Amino acid sequence: MSLLENKGNDFASYKSDEVNLKDRLVKQLPSKDVEMLVNAGKLAQNMGVKCYLVGGTVRDLVLKKRCYDIDLTVDGDGLAFAEQFTKFYGKRMKSFAQFGTAFVVLKTGKKIDISTSRTEVYTSPGSLPKVKYGEIEYDLYRRDFTINSMAISVNPEDFGRLLDFHSGVKDLKAKVIRILNDQSFEDDPLRVLRAIRFEQRLGFDIENRTKELMMKSIESNCLKTVSAERVYTELIVSTNKGDAAKFITRLSELGILRQIHKSLYFDELKAEQAKELSKLLEWFVKEYPQDKIEKWYPFHLILFSGLPKDMQTSIAKQLTYPSNFIKSISKIKLFLDKIDSGELKDSTDGELALKLSGLRIEDVLYLLAVVKDDELKSRLRHYLTHSRSVSLSINGHDLLMMGVTLGALIGSILQTLKIQKIDGKISNREDELELAKKMVDDDSDSATNLE
Ligand code: ATP
Repeated sequence: MSLLENKGNDFASYKSDEVNLKDRLVKQLPSKDVEMLVNAGKLAQNMGVKCYLVGGTVRDLVLKKRCYDIDLTVDGDGLAFAEQFTKFYGKRMKSFAQFGTAFVVLKTGKKIDISTSRTEVYTSPGSLPKVKYGEIEYDLYRRDFTINSMAISVNPEDFGRLLDFHSGVKDLKAKVIRILNDQSFEDDPLRVLRAIRFEQRLGFDIENRTKELMMKSIESNCLKTVSAERVYTELIVSTNKGDAAKFITRLSELGILRQIHKSLYFDELKAEQAKELSKLLEWFVKEYPQDKIEKWYPFHLILFSGLPKDMQTSIAKQLTYPSNFIKSISKIKLFLDKIDSGELKDSTDGELALKLSGLRIEDVLYLLAVVKDDELKSRLRHYLTHSRSVSLSINGHDLLMMGVTLGALIGSILQTLKIQKIDGKISNREDELELAKKMVDDDSDSATNLE
């Protein structure tokens, strides 16, 4: 009896030569990635080990979706393999000896993960696993869902052969998320969040038994045993791709949000704002592909909205959000206070742009999604589409050439010029130089008057 049959799964029906995805691999992956996989396979063969493509990429290949990440696992010494692979095809690598994993940056700049196929023993629920090395079958068995537990061999003798011990393809066809064993959520409660990530992203159903066990885990407040950092990372990944609004709504419906932090909530208003934000992001990414924005960011600003500022900051810190995010919360509050006090009511576009320039684009997109006032909405949109890209033709060096030596004066002249340019009062280098000269003269006149 094989190792796999011991686990009581339907392995008997598995025929190793059944499916070969070589053609699909070649068709769907960028040719550089295919070449890299072929090379990885050749190296593995030379080293007398087996190398597999694993995880989400295999799932996405079967689903005929675009694949981005490359995760390799090696039946054998993954670290020795990673070192050799880096020597031939990589720029650098970072290894995590205690986990038998490595992160390799290829010559092309692409980053790939290499792991050693293994079994994991969880010492206590939610903690990092202690690693025990094993074979690919065990490696796949320790994964979260059947659809994520497939591998494709890249060794030359069977390049493209699909390993699907847990009927991942069948579940992909049936569109279900299914755990591999009843212990799964107890072993790693973070899988509750992952189940919802894939349910929402792929539009799949969580299979009945899986749902039952998941609900039990949720009832037992399972996430309390998972580190804040892991929860945070999972939340970011899940809201960066796919429909973030639906994902957070689902967390809220299932009572998971309050387990992450008792004060977090996502009501209908926030859900509406998040839907509006999704549309805005779609528009923005299409119009301004060069602006690399972090999609999760404004969704999380919505999630944190409506709470007292101190609480927002303390929750964000507890959940290990980056300091930028906490700064955004403060800056947005300052901006909204100015709006409420009427301070910006009669501001010109240039003056408004100056106030917004300290905010990230994600912050402005958030504001655009949540403010109700139509006039302010259209002004924020104008900032994104016009004002923020206005730049001056002159710089501090030109002012130095005019004899301005005071750094603060240089800054304030450039600021004024920018406002004037956004407001259409000046339009080219000559105008800018002329106005700058006038400001320098005025400044020296007022200095002389004071003497
Ligand atoms: P995505 O397309 O969102 O990146 P992915 O499946 O590649 O999806 P990752 O979080 O990158 O997601 O994980 C890679 C693979 O590692 C998964 O497909 C799964 O096999 C395995 N995995 C990740 N997290 C867990 C976990 N908590 N428990 C078990 N297996 C996991």
